[in-house]
Amino acid sequence: MNELLKQDLLNIAGILEQVKVEGLDFLNGINGRPTSVDTPMQANPALLEERGMGTLEALKEFKASFDAIIVAAAGPRYWGFVTGGTTPAAIAGDWLTSVYDQNTQSIKGQGDVSALIELDTIQLLLQLLGLPDDYTAGFVTGATMANFTCLAVARQWAGKQLGLDVARNGVPAGIKVLSAMPHSSAVKSLAMLGIGSQNFIKLQVLPGNREAMAIADLEAKIQELDGQPFILISSAGTVNTVDFDDFEAIFKLRDKYNFWWHIDAAFGAFAACAPDYRHLLKDWEQADSITVDCHKWLNVPYENAFFLIRKQHQHLQVESFQNSNAPYLGDPMDNFSYLNFLPENSRRLKALPAWLSLKAYGRAGQQDIVIQSIAMAKALGDFIANSTAFELLAPVRLNTVCFTLKGDENQDKVFKYLHLLNEGGRVFMTPTVYQQKNAIRAAFVNWRTSQEDMDIAIAEMENALLSIFP
Ligand SMILES: *Cc1c(COP(=O)(O)O)cnc(C)c1O
Repeated sequence: MNELLKQDLLNIAGILEQVKVEGLDFLNGINGRPTSVDTPMQANPALLEERGMGTLEALKEFKASFDAIIVAAAGPRYWGFVTGGTTPAAIAGDWLTSVYDQNTQSIKGQGDVSALIELDTIQLLLQLLGLPDDYTAGFVTGATMANFTCLAVARQWAGKQLGLDVARNGVPAGIKVLSAMPHSSAVKSLAMLGIGSQNFIKLQVLPGNREAMAIADLEAKIQELDGQPFILISSAGTVNTVDFDDFEAIFKLRDKYNFWWHIDAAFGAFAACAPDYRHLLKDWEQADSITVDCHKWLNVPYENAFFLIRKQHQHLQVESFQNSNAPYLGDPMDNFSYLNFLPENSRRLKALPAWLSLKAYGRAGQQDIVIQSIAMAKALGDFIANSTAFELLAPVRLNTVCFTLKGDENQDKVFKYLHLLNEGGRVFMTPTVYQQKNAIRAAFVNWRTSQEDMDIAIAEMENALLSIFP
């Protein structure tokens, strides 16, 4: 064994102790750590030396080189994109995932059967979300990959409807996809799947401040397809204004038309945890496939999401993902292994942070996180609605606030204002364009965010106004 490796092995307790110290230092200081950095790094390019320095020295060098660019993305005032934090239990799970270093695929036989933990975690998540145990589900790196996985099986289904086996023979032209406000990652998935990012039929949204599809337009476009099968990509929570498609109405259309129904519920799925909002998801369990992110509202570390694909489609899922030229892996239908059910082969034990967090805090813990996030979004929404400088662009439907500077004459100042606000490093939001208006989004999914954070953020927002309108 290499001498430095041997030293580190002997000093593993000292190394983990130091990592604990660093971790605590970060976590205890997270409220004061900047939410953004503006300075480009000056560091020299990394140099791979012949002789290493051991972990403790390397850690020191890492801190010296990079600590300044690690922002408080896991902190309570990082409201850009849809950014979750990490609960204590989830950190414990993630650290142990690295320690255990399982290659999570199988549930029986000899060797690594850690996929049992993944299946157990799926059970917890189904109960949390109030879904039936009727899916072949698994963990992937994010909602992008969950969308990709679900839409790959949808593609196989659509091919079968045309008498084709897409997984074996390639993608034919003419697979029909309908959607109103697909997340960019669903559109990217269409590109990756060979369907084409432009090859979806765009549905109208409801009039007014809505991003949900107009069901009447959906039915009209279906009729234009004249009986051809299609894939419907629907949304449980659009990014700008967190609108939900009408799943009850979509479910009714299934009696009349032949389609694969996918729901991107990356963060909207967690509306199921809040009794006052659960109705938004009515009938969602009837979908063929559902995407859910865990590294957003479940507050586990990146990279963590799962897909749900109805068990009745299991054969299509295997056709899409089997390792068909590897006889040593066995028959995928009688020996369950994740490597035949999703894109990756080797994969880490992604489920453990979620397992530990769900066990540690239970249904009530997750419900509290969701309800608090919604309360914070409403509080910011109220502030915006009552302010003379800002304008709310849509009602706060769940956990996101979409707003702009009041007055058309200030449209060219919106992103400058946001830049100034973010530069302060105490709160972070992201730009968007909503109904042709330059706008700002603040999304709430972090378990730490409190009224105190809201007060700090509002003071920052008011301060930044003074710089823009001196
Ligand atoms: C965040 C998000 C995605 C993409 O998720 P990643 O985890 O970043 O891959 C997809 N759909 C929706 C609705 C999202 O909010």
